[in-house]
Amino acid sequence: MAIAENLKHIKDRLPATVTLVAVSKTKTAEAIMEAYNCGHRDFGENYVQELVAKAERLPKDIRWHFIGHLQSNKVKFIAPFVHLIHGVDSMKLLKEIGKQGLKAGRNMACLLQLHIAREESKFGFSYEECREAITELANSGVQGTGVLGLMAMASNVEDKDQIRREFMEFAAFFREMKTILPQLQILSCGMSQDYPLALEAGSNMLRIGSSIFGERQYGAENG
Ligand SMILES: *Cc1c(COP(=O)(O)O)cnc(C)c1O
Repeated sequence: MAIAENLKHIKDRLPATVTLVAVSKTKTAEAIMEAYNCGHRDFGENYVQELVAKAERLPKDIRWHFIGHLQSNKVKFIAPFVHLIHGVDSMKLLKEIGKQGLKAGRNMACLLQLHIAREESKFGFSYEECREAITELANSGVQGTGVLGLMAMASNVEDKDQIRREFMEFAAFFREMKTILPQLQILSCGMSQDYPLALEAGSNMLRIGSSIFGERQYGAENG
């Protein structure tokens, strides 16, 4: 089975300290179960509706990572069960996550998302904004949340040196932020096309989709 082989191929080369999140967006429950039956438990999804539907159907010991852009008004749907929210890009969103965490009786584990790529994007803190947010969190955390690390995506380019530079800068920033907020442990970066470079830079959480499940059908994605 291709999924089992792909998963094994990647996992066999990873240090034990690195968590692999299998990104299953647009993929079927059957595809997820194939990875699950190999012992894999960490899966990543981008869309709230899709995540909720899959979580209802699939085994309860799956650790669901929300890796997409999260709208404040949808936090409540995933708060009761989500394992880690990767894409927190504002203090406003973090506070809403905290509110829903308190309601659900859970401390919501979160990563702050940085915008490190050359491409324009509406999402993610700049380095400056993130430093301010981390400083604020070091002074007083947001109840109902625990910010455990940082997440980013490198530029979608062929130039390996460019990607390497972006990951190296991101990792250096992470180490600096750790001196301000020692609870930061997770550095989430690296996707199918660039994860060896992310590992080199010190990533300890990869988010890999197409190299495990195959290419996604274009147009099958929905928000
Ligand atoms: C889709 C996605 C991934 C996985 O991308 P692949 O190129 O399929 O490995 C990783 N991170 C985020 C935020 C994504 O949206």
